Amino acid sequence: MSINVNWDLDSIFEGGSQSSALADFLARLTTDLDTLAAADRLAPLTDESQSAWVAAIQTLFDLGARLNQASSFIGCLVSQNVKDEKALQLMGQTEQLGAKLGALWTRFQAAFAEQDDTDWTNLVTQTDLHNVTFYLNKSRELARQKMAPELETLANDLATDGYHAWGRLYDIISGDKEVEFEGKPTSLGQLQSRFYDDPDRSVRQAAFELFEQSWAGLAKTCALALNFQAGFRLALYKHRDWPSVLHEPLLNNRFSAETLEAMWSVVDAKSAKLLDYFNAKAKLFGVDKLAWFDVDAPIGQVTKTFTYQEASDFVVDSINTFDSDIAGYCRMAIDNHWIEAEDRSGKRAGAYCTSLPLSKESRIFMTYNGSYNGMLTLAHELGHGYHSWAMRDLPYGARRYTMSVAETASTFNEMVVRNASYTASRDDQDRLSILGTKLNDAAAFLMNIRARFLFEQAFFEQRAKTQLSVDDLNELMLSAQKTAYKDGLAVYHPLFWASKLHFYLTYAPFYNFPYTFGFLFSNGVYAQAVAEGPAFHDRYVALLRDTGSMDTEDLAQKHLGVDLTQPAFWETAADRVLADVDEFVALAEKVS
Ligand SMILES: [Zn+2]
Repeated sequence: MSINVNWDLDSIFEGGSQSSALADFLARLTTDLDTLAAADRLAPLTDESQSAWVAAIQTLFDLGARLNQASSFIGCLVSQNVKDEKALQLMGQTEQLGAKLGALWTRFQAAFAEQDDTDWTNLVTQTDLHNVTFYLNKSRELARQKMAPELETLANDLATDGYHAWGRLYDIISGDKEVEFEGKPTSLGQLQSRFYDDPDRSVRQAAFELFEQSWAGLAKTCALALNFQAGFRLALYKHRDWPSVLHEPLLNNRFSAETLEAMWSVVDAKSAKLLDYFNAKAKLFGVDKLAWFDVDAPIGQVTKTFTYQEASDFVVDSINTFDSDIAGYCRMAIDNHWIEAEDRSGKRAGAYCTSLPLSKESRIFMTYNGSYNGMLTLAHELGHGYHSWAMRDLPYGARRYTMSVAETASTFNEMVVRNASYTASRDDQDRLSILGTKLNDAAAFLMNIRARFLFEQAFFEQRAKTQLSVDDLNELMLSAQKTAYKDGLAVYHPLFWASKLHFYLTYAPFYNFPYTFGFLFSNGVYAQAVAEGPAFHDRYVALLRDTGSMDTEDLAQKHLGVDLTQPAFWETAADRVLADVDEFVALAEKVS
């Protein structure tokens, strides 16, 4: 059987962006949303009004699922053809619907907060809402921690042209900037991928130096944007009486400061082991010590290439030796044409997996180019698909998991395939490359992300007292990097605070530690899976299914029997990640 490199979207809505079924679907959704928005406010919660509350909340979830279905589908249309004007227009339409639904949720959450505790508990435990209790309780808790609804509305309105506007300003100034590199006009994004990925060290160095220089020219404006948006955030937190800048991101990720502390203390204690990797890599590059622009650089290329058919088979077969149910899912997704993998122009960049909650299916978007990394991407995205698949029959309100656990199944799949390809490879250079990409990930999550976290924490601490200059910010970043990289580099990247978009994401504050959390969490899960063999499968699925309805500590306690607030779990996970270092060092000596 020959394999299809294009996905099937017609089975969702026939006819692409011109689909009349889609147009009808959106029209009905719009009417239903407007109807709920125009409805009278609910009477205070009592035994008599309870059924009206249940109905209204179920409608709210239903609208969310339908909007998700439409926007996932439309996202697919735009990705497969970035010039599909009609699809772009539909996307704008769903964004507006999203804003409306968001406003409705805010209104409901404020109402949740006002109800009596006993009536509320009855509502969420004694009615059809009992399987979305967690989500509703979380929403209510959050509303209770905020200011009065009219003040929150005001703050929200002001944020559009204040707080969030600083992020947009940043997007514009960084997006517009072009420089000349190797005689060609080059965006800063392109320049960045040259200094991270180019196999030629002198190209990396030249690109890096030009990159630092270019950001130095923008740094004053970036510093203002960063200072002002942080000032806005701190003022808002003060009015909400929120004790720390970590309060919001920890709430968003559903774990405690204690857990975060336990994780970072283990990372701090263990990450020096990566210096052995750095030293071996430096030797391969012919330098004494790695520079910032060497850390991510590839160590050769995995020379073996794979057709899409071969990559699919390899992914399925290697997962099958580990878990036949996950492998069965992957086979089904491939055979049912849920994946768009063709290498052609006109597609957007990157890869993702999106779920269609009403169809109980997913679609995976990527551009498969025959490389080893392409195969890993396929395995990774299929992991996301499996996560949704495991949750497909749960109510919509129990399927919403956070960033901290979102990468559990994807990283898990990736690890299985990486290890299988390492075992299958007979070529030392290839094996060295495979271990190198694994250890690059380790350095990214344990060091690079940690530097971002340390910087951001120190920045907010000082920003509470005063505004910071470009020099202040450079100094903070340099010190964060030296700490996180254990003084292991010859050249650092002080302007990283200016160049990294993540510091400017006002919708996701501290967009860093959940990455490290997710990476180590998945490695910890994988370590248990390896130790227990096939018996682990049912617990793994149960864990994935509960990701939308438990705090992360409870999830880990229930399904893994571990306490995330203590170092032990994190130590096992970090040891697993660092286990490749010695093997890499030995192999590097052998090949050089
Ligand atoms: Zn992912």
